[in-house]
Amino acid sequence: MLEFGRRRSCRVAVSVPIRVFGTDYRGRDFTEEANTLVVNLHGAKIRMAHQLIPEAEIRLVSHATGRDSVFRVVSKLRSPDLEFTYWGVENLNPNENIWGVEIPALETGDQVKVRVLIECPTCSAREILHVEETPLAAIQEKGGVERTCNACDSTGLWKLVPFHEA
Ligand SMILES: [Zn+2]
Repeated sequence: MLEFGRRRSCRVAVSVPIRVFGTDYRGRDFTEEANTLVVNLHGAKIRMAHQLIPEAEIRLVSHATGRDSVFRVVSKLRSPDLEFTYWGVENLNPNENIWGVEIPALETGDQVKVRVLIECPTCSAREILHVEETPLAAIQEKGGVERTCNACDSTGLWKLVPFHEA
């Protein structure tokens, strides 16, 4: 599975609303409102109903910032979803952060896993998890992680928090 290629910035699990402009396998232009699952400066993992073409270029507008960039489709990823397909896309102009999310510097462990910030629904205690991509997709579908809090001892669904203040 070819992913983002070179990973020079941390991958952050965050659902950013995006608009994708592309061409499907029949050569027809399309526009789709979609979402990211994971982002970094050099690429993203996105969830779409349309089928993309490997190596094709798509234009992607981030609704969070109104900024856009051209991306290359680098991989089709396994998806737990029947309705949608997950794609790895590489940003061809990674100098600008179009996501509107702060992307932390790469740390040990971030290369193979995705850094996820989660929050206790009861006391708002926060924890950083390093999650593999496959369980991460399941966590995002579910909207969080079921766990017991060390701070308040309650069990609940910890929601994913974007890395704004990390
Ligand atoms: Zn708690």
